[in-house]
Amino acid sequence: MSDATKGMNFIEQIIDEDLASNYKQNQLRFRFPPEPNGYLHIGHVKAICLNFGLGVKYKAPVNLRFDDTNPVKEETVYVEGIMNDIQWLGFQWDKVVYASDYFDQLYRWALYLIEKGVAYVDSQDSASIAAQKGTPTQPGTESPYRNRSIKENRTLFEAMKAGEHKQGSHVLRAKIDMSAPNMLLRDPIMYRILFEAHHRTGDRWCIYPMYDWTHGESDYIEKISHSLCTLEFKPHRELYDWFLSALSPLKGLRPKQREFSRLNLSYTVTSKRKLAQLIDKGHVSGWDDPRMPTIAGLRRRGYTPKALQQFVTTAGISKRENIIDVGLLEFCVREDLNKSAARVFSVLDPIKLTIENFPDNQTETLIGQLNPEDPAAGTREIPFSKHLYIEQDDFKENANRKFFRLTLGKEVRLKNAYIIKGESVVKDNMGDIVEIICSYDPDSKSGSGSEASQRKVKGTLHWVSQKEAVPILVRNYDRLFAHPSPDKGEEDFLNHLNPDSFSEAKAFAEPHIRTTVVGEPCQFQRKGYYVLDPDSEKYGQLIFNKTVGLRDNWSKP
Ligand code: ATP
Ligand code: MG
Repeated sequence: MSDATKGMNFIEQIIDEDLASNYKQNQLRFRFPPEPNGYLHIGHVKAICLNFGLGVKYKAPVNLRFDDTNPVKEETVYVEGIMNDIQWLGFQWDKVVYASDYFDQLYRWALYLIEKGVAYVDSQDSASIAAQKGTPTQPGTESPYRNRSIKENRTLFEAMKAGEHKQGSHVLRAKIDMSAPNMLLRDPIMYRILFEAHHRTGDRWCIYPMYDWTHGESDYIEKISHSLCTLEFKPHRELYDWFLSALSPLKGLRPKQREFSRLNLSYTVTSKRKLAQLIDKGHVSGWDDPRMPTIAGLRRRGYTPKALQQFVTTAGISKRENIIDVGLLEFCVREDLNKSAARVFSVLDPIKLTIENFPDNQTETLIGQLNPEDPAAGTREIPFSKHLYIEQDDFKENANRKFFRLTLGKEVRLKNAYIIKGESVVKDNMGDIVEIICSYDPDSKSGSGSEASQRKVKGTLHWVSQKEAVPILVRNYDRLFAHPSPDKGEEDFLNHLNPDSFSEAKAFAEPHIRTTVVGEPCQFQRKGYYVLDPDSEKYGQLIFNKTVGLRDNWSKP
């Protein structure tokens, strides 16, 4: 590897080689081609960042092309969702185009291939056609209809288009080679009859082109220079090239298909079909459930565009399949939110704490930094009083020497406030602690510079003043699957669902929480990152989704 190519992915090297030989800069053009049959997921983020990222790097246009050749599964809501997700990620396409824009052109080209004698109408059913495919080591069998006359093929194909034939009665096939070692070249199907309304063309068509017969041709029409797809399409490249050659003489640049590895993520499934199953069976609330690996779900969970981009950049673009640890995704969002999220105190599992020597009925306004990583973010006001909440598990009546939080007779600091000492506890008649009584050192205020304030204590706790506490609802989300590769084994992936992926709890937060807006991430100090959910408006209550904890609790200790 030369110095100039270090740090470049192999796709960029291919493009640079092309630029050095026969391509001009202004001939570069890319596309991202989703099928609008569901919402985009984290795997698509990789393909989006690759294609749109190349557009940015080479100052080349990138088309958003909806690959809409299967009317049965495609819907306009998905088109809108996909556009929204791409823009949210921070990318802008040159043109929005649809494979269905080319249905007329594709039809004319199909007639051209019939005239050329390299396409024919097969009148067998799909089972017979499949049975004649052969195996990788055995050649297939030629269809009895393979040698129909050009005229008969044309008449039949036109009648198929006109709706004169039943669904399943005929298909149009390319006449290539039934003994080709690459089985995709054994007379692939180009068109099938489908009496289904299409989300854009309505009832205008009842024959629909297949993927292989659409993709390269769409690339050619749009003058795409590099058509990037995932590795499973590698065997399709020969067919992609065959169709383009069969159409020659085509003018101008021939698009090139090149393949990169799919993004596979541990503890995650990334297949629209399987994601749809999770919704249909009620395991999640929808495409944007915060546990879903969809862009919509990740956004609602509190992931940022920056974190997702950083993640795919770190995971890299390669030619080899591998599984990326979902811990890396969580690491990337933690890194980003650490820099950008406002800090607030929120007590998730509260117990009352009373400071016996603090004046009654007095509220003191303390100042906390919004983000210690970003002093420019400014400060917030935090009310402090005699009656507070702290976390249950920040107190132990009988603690050993390794317990650095609150216990009787020892000092800890209340963050941004004072040093307190545990004095006694109040118990209910079941013997459970319901209140902790403390004393505080009035000279120990944080940031006061006093000698007392600089006294070293082992622990620092977050807290909320009871009177000003804002009740919130916290939705705790965790990984949807408890198995590192839920869909790789024999077992149904649904058997690997994590039963603890969701729980809800009431909590108390400091008043600054009221300034939070939907989608804006914040850090509950000492707890993790949380984001205000759009349901808050619906239910008239502040509802926070847990994005990720401050630390990774899944990797081995
Ligand atoms: P799914 O199996 O989830 O439906 P798909 O590949 O059928 O995925 P498309 O809408 O056809 O989904 O994909 C649009 C583009 O995104 C294609 O170029 C495809 O190769 C790419 N893509 C899809 N999944 C991944 C993934 N896991 N990693 C990288 N790229 C992906
Ligand atoms: Mg697909």
